[in-house]
Amino acid sequence: MSKEKDNVRIGNEARKGSSDRTADGLADRLTRIRRELHRYPELSNEEYETTKRIKRWLEESGIAIASYPLRTGVVAELGGKRPGPVIALRADIDALPVQEETGLPFASSVPGKMHACGHDFHTAAMLGAAFLLKEREDELQGTVRFLFQPAEEKAFGARQVIDSGALEGVSAVFGLHNKPDLPVGTIGIKGGPLMAAADGFKVEVKGKGSHAAVPESSLDPIVAAAHIVTAVQSIVSRNVSALDGAVVSVTKLNSGTVWNVIPESAVLEGTIRTFDEVVRARVLERFEQVCVSVAAAFGTSASVRWIQGPPSVVNDDALAELAWEVADQLGIAPVVPVPSLAGEDFAVYQKQIPGLFVFFGTSGPEEWHHPAFDVDERALPLAADYFAALAERALEAVAEG
Ligand SMILES: [Zn+2]
Ligand SMILES: [Zn+2]
Repeated sequence: MSKEKDNVRIGNEARKGSSDRTADGLADRLTRIRRELHRYPELSNEEYETTKRIKRWLEESGIAIASYPLRTGVVAELGGKRPGPVIALRADIDALPVQEETGLPFASSVPGKMHACGHDFHTAAMLGAAFLLKEREDELQGTVRFLFQPAEEKAFGARQVIDSGALEGVSAVFGLHNKPDLPVGTIGIKGGPLMAAADGFKVEVKGKGSHAAVPESSLDPIVAAAHIVTAVQSIVSRNVSALDGAVVSVTKLNSGTVWNVIPESAVLEGTIRTFDEVVRARVLERFEQVCVSVAAAFGTSASVRWIQGPPSVVNDDALAELAWEVADQLGIAPVVPVPSLAGEDFAVYQKQIPGLFVFFGTSGPEEWHHPAFDVDERALPLAADYFAALAERALEAVAEG
């Protein structure tokens, strides 16, 4: 409990540090926006009403919507009155197929759908940055482009934004994720790897069925699959350095229909998480070898199908340094975060241009994707203020080279 009190204190101090920029009116407005988004969550690539809402809020503040061919999601632009580079601020806008259990007065009104990853927070925070930057538009030394990106949870959205052309001409991109275990008033910033590459697999083991009482006539896919599940556990411990992070998780195993029949096949599914591209390639290669060889040892065969996820989020060191300075100046405490093995398709932008993804402290009661997930809304104006200031500084820094 004492930890909670500390969070409140840090949050209030941080608020004070930036009170000249963050009017209380903004905090109220962003809270209303976040709650409206929270009440009406939409799943990946179905964010039609969310898209309309974002456009409405931007237009109410006189912010220009840019025209790119996106079915859902919004691109907006500010500045450009003075010559300079283009930098992008990105927020994801989609929700999850989770039944909300927060009991909040503004809880999801859609059964089975919830903003359980806090993308409502990200959207409201970046709208806040846009509102603040609109007021200082004439002084901006370049252009700030806002990417309200669809379908992050399915890892499609960043690719859709890039395919629409909205990343063209952008020199650097910034994004955030709320972080329940960081207190309000803190921000997690680090150069290098921050979040993992997230690949999925589906393995089919084909054997030969028989009567359960005559196993010698079978090539039992269940025994082979069970050995595969055990054998792949050795990849992280025997093929990856203890200094590199990696995860191999089998999360689904299906086979058989009844107690007295040995089935024809078994199917395993799961995920592999890595930070480094060399480690990623090595783990995927070993996984396939182990599946095929263990299956063969039991007279069965295994075929591996990959569901390629986003690469790892790898932050630009110079941008991380800049972001740290801006946090310091605003009275938001920068900390070096522990990297997360969750995936995040912000990484797809970073494959094209330098980028920085940060963890924003939101003192949440539960982890991402939990039915009782929530954020402390006092972090909203802090995040708005922070990204407005970071955008200004980034324009100057990029211009200086
Ligand atoms: Zn998520
Ligand atoms: Zn998320």
